[in-house]
Amino acid sequence: MTVVAIDGPAGSGKSTIAAALAARLGVPHVDTGAFYRAATLAALRAGADPQDPDAVLAALAGARIDRRAGRTLLDGEDVEEEIRGPAVTRAVSAVSAHPAVRTALLDAQRAGVTPAGAVVEGRDAGTVVVPHADLKVWLTATPRERASRRAAQAGSATTAAVAAHEADIARRDALDAGRMVPASGVIAVDTTDRDVDAIVADLVSLARSQAERPAGP
Ligand code: C5P
Repeated sequence: MTVVAIDGPAGSGKSTIAAALAARLGVPHVDTGAFYRAATLAALRAGADPQDPDAVLAALAGARIDRRAGRTLLDGEDVEEEIRGPAVTRAVSAVSAHPAVRTALLDAQRAGVTPAGAVVEGRDAGTVVVPHADLKVWLTATPRERASRRAAQAGSATTAAVAAHEADIARRDALDAGRMVPASGVIAVDTTDRDVDAIVADLVSLARSQAERPAGP
């Protein structure tokens, strides 16, 4: 069994690296952020105020969130594209700030870990979701690099688009700050200007050597 926790802020390269690492290790990729995004969409669709924990929880009580083959399903509907859109991205940090919402989603996130293991990606994978992970990684990149990646993903890398993404990233960093606490024993990796394949190759070796280590005293 190999369990890897990959945490870090928006645009640090988590999703790309976690997906590639999971494929190389032959284990599922658990994107915990997708659960918060789907919960946010459920709240928005129910007309709930994202700032109101009771309203969000009431919306969640009637919603079913599943992840299948890298896609996110809300009540059986594929919402993978919609949860990455601006409406959900604007509201998700307010929704994920409610402790009761976090508790409500935790079991579903952990259920993604199979007997073979998993690569679990998020903000609190190493501290809360899989604190027993064999390897804990904290990814970073410069704010400009993170904004450029988001702009490229969104299909517009003009100076104005990058600046808008940089402002959005700074806003989300501030709102997510309380949850962005690196776990103890974490390995920090700066992905700025680094080749994804090289980072993944390093992490595959590290994960394998950590998983083979005898359990500590
Ligand atoms: O990783 P992604 O950017 O898709 O996450 C969306 C939002 O979900 C984050 O901005 C954060 O508010 C929340 N999140 C969280 N804890 C996690 C993963 C994501 O609070 N483990």
